[in-house]
Amino acid sequence: MDYLIRQAAERIAYARHLVISTGAGVSKESGVPTFRDALDGLWAQYDPTELATPQAFQRNPKRVWDWYTYRREMVSKTHPNPGHYALAELEGLLPKVVLITQNVDNHHQLAGSRDIIPLHGNLFAFKCSTSCQGNPTSIDLDSLAPWNPEDGPPRCPYCNSGYVRPDVVWFHETLPEAQLTRAFEEAQNCDVMLVVGTSGAVYPAAWIPIKAAERGAFLIEVNPQPSELTRAMNIHLAAPSGEVLPQVVEVVKQLLHSS
Ligand SMILES: [Zn+2]
Repeated sequence: MDYLIRQAAERIAYARHLVISTGAGVSKESGVPTFRDALDGLWAQYDPTELATPQAFQRNPKRVWDWYTYRREMVSKTHPNPGHYALAELEGLLPKVVLITQNVDNHHQLAGSRDIIPLHGNLFAFKCSTSCQGNPTSIDLDSLAPWNPEDGPPRCPYCNSGYVRPDVVWFHETLPEAQLTRAFEEAQNCDVMLVVGTSGAVYPAAWIPIKAAERGAFLIEVNPQPSELTRAMNIHLAAPSGEVLPQVVEVVKQLLHSS
């Protein structure tokens, strides 16, 4: 393992353009409940399609809004782990680091990563459900006049007709085009890609490392278990990201200080 950590660190330390792609594994190590894990207690009676589709929101905006309020409360009880902090630290060490994530828990932002492409949105961001000022019409919840949560979601302050909704990608929705386009551009231009805690089974995100490999990037995977993508990787660090990433970053720092 030490040898693999050293090899990975050497590639990362001298990367001109590093792209990091993260998935559910990184959040799981922080104890963030997955969508399905959160379907307990009062919520166990619901099917995901009743809570996280545009149709469900149309039928029952209050139920969907309450579900997301509940999920934000649960996520707020968890924290970024050492893996999140190690990834954020790389941004200060290397010329260019871009982080693509499928996670919606905001932990990369809290850990200090700045250049983030949130492919599936963010539980703590909001937008107008009618995209009245373009897609997305972002809304700062704190800037809204007080409303009664018993009535469901507040109305969009721009159009006053659409409801405010969480800025996350629901079932039956496509990924935000701007983010997806940028993710593929970064993947095609990077020289090293670090893929952390993704199953490799969620499309189109799973195509991102494949694109990078096609353009000759060096691929490093961090995942306790092999994933659908492991065969395409140059290095596989088979360990939890919260344990192995701080070690990798430590070696990156030694290499950069000694050169
Ligand atoms: Zn609106």
